[in-house]
Amino acid sequence: MHELSVTEAILETALRHARQAGAGRVTDLYLVIGQLSSIVDDSVQFYWDIIAKDTPAKGARLHFERIPARFRCLDCGNLYPPDGGTLACPQCQGTHVKVAAGDEFRLESIDVDNADPTEETHATENPDR
Ligand SMILES: [Zn+2]
Repeated sequence: MHELSVTEAILETALRHARQAGAGRVTDLYLVIGQLSSIVDDSVQFYWDIIAKDTPAKGARLHFERIPARFRCLDCGNLYPPDGGTLACPQCQGTHVKVAAGDEFRLESIDVDNADPTEETHATENPDR
């Protein structure tokens, strides 16, 4: 159920930005999700379709960007990806590690359409969709 509150927060943020920009509609949302965060894309999409349907963000596309996890060794400063079985630093075998990347979750940007089609605003170009 974690994703529901997360998705509601995203919707709220997107609508607030759209209002500030005087936009009529939100068309695309770009989300950044760390590999270690417990957010599941499909669940966010599922809730999105339900809670956005009576808002200007209805039908907006969700784009997910996954950030790979990285650990930082506090003993030798080594930065390394998790290797499944162990958290220990591959360089010094130290176990004083912290998460340097991979636990983030944020709304990176949105695309909106203004009611007037001659004034389309695109915060981000996305050539492959
Ligand atoms: Zn180390």
